Amino acid sequence: MRELTESAITILDRLVSFNTVSNRSNRELIDYIKDYLSELGVESTIIPDATGQKANLFATIGDPTVPGVVLSGHTDVVPVEGQVWQREPFAVTRENGRLYGRGTSDMKGFVACAMAIVPQLKAAELKMPVHLAFSYDEEVGCLGVHSLIEHMTNSVAAPVAALIGEPSNMTVVDSHKGSRGILTTITGKAVHSSRVDLGTSAVLGAMKIVQQMETCSDELEAQSDPSLRFELPYSTINVGVIRGGTARNLVPGDCVLQWEIRGTRPDITDSTQARITKFIDQSVLPDMQQRFEGSRIETSIVYDVPPLVAIPGSEAETLAKRFAGTNETFAVNYGTEAGFFAMADVPAVICGPGSDTEAHIADEWIAIEQIDKCMTFLEALVAHVQAA
Ligand SMILES: [Zn+2]
Repeated sequence: MRELTESAITILDRLVSFNTVSNRSNRELIDYIKDYLSELGVESTIIPDATGQKANLFATIGDPTVPGVVLSGHTDVVPVEGQVWQREPFAVTRENGRLYGRGTSDMKGFVACAMAIVPQLKAAELKMPVHLAFSYDEEVGCLGVHSLIEHMTNSVAAPVAALIGEPSNMTVVDSHKGSRGILTTITGKAVHSSRVDLGTSAVLGAMKIVQQMETCSDELEAQSDPSLRFELPYSTINVGVIRGGTARNLVPGDCVLQWEIRGTRPDITDSTQARITKFIDQSVLPDMQQRFEGSRIETSIVYDVPPLVAIPGSEAETLAKRFAGTNETFAVNYGTEAGFFAMADVPAVICGPGSDTEAHIADEWIAIEQIDKCMTFLEALVAHVQAA
């Protein structure tokens, strides 16, 4: 195995050794990256969250006043609880051309590759900079990337492309759906069921809302568009949790709906939520308030991961295709941080080592060959950003 790939594996070994499941601090890992970069003469900025327990890291190799290319990755991983692991999750086990460990494919593998290419970038004379953008809390709704992009926007020239290294088997992915998590809380009036006439059932209110969601779902399905290349080529609504009531003989005063919209385009997500809100305001709430004036229905967005909408011919697509040596692009089922970069007017595509089917599972793994491919991709990036 060539030296560059081995050096990425050595870094990956360290990254995996930090338990950065999203409900824990990632600060030790971020400090490790900062120290690594600093030893190479690269300054980086740590962007902490409000608690200081978690942080993003942003670094630039090259002239920050010139539009450059972003390499983006998240540093948190999904939990291992409830999974039966044959190997140690927070260490890299090397076996038969594979590297096992939590985060090896999603997505410390890419972060390690991006770090391993820094010495080459540092040694080259660059005509455009390369930025490293490493976030926290991606796995729980892309919470960290907001302040990371804000920092990027305020501190460097607008990049021409963002390459998001989520596992795609090093293919170029230009589309995914968005995912908006929504919470609707219905409050009626609880009374004993012997006098239902005096109460207002929050569960009945919730039921009407859910029915309207089903009507909307059917309409979204009717707008199916196979040209989008998704396995399921239309936007969807899912009610994941309904929780209401406390006892059989009580009219329930409270009910909570946890639901989500997976939209193929940002405007579809917005208009779908607006339709549900309008239905609540015009039909469900007035009915409930007629029975009990203090009835309330409140809706809030818990997280909002925007869709990645393909921009054929964008700089991100052109560069990723060239570096990966391919002419094809794909759409995927999962969501990523790519849509946030696109919303900040930085065209983004996904291209990273490993496969999403190897991620999130017990004994998560990545093929060493994928790390090697990613290093070839990043060497092509170096050649591109190098002054002639
Ligand atoms: Zn990921």
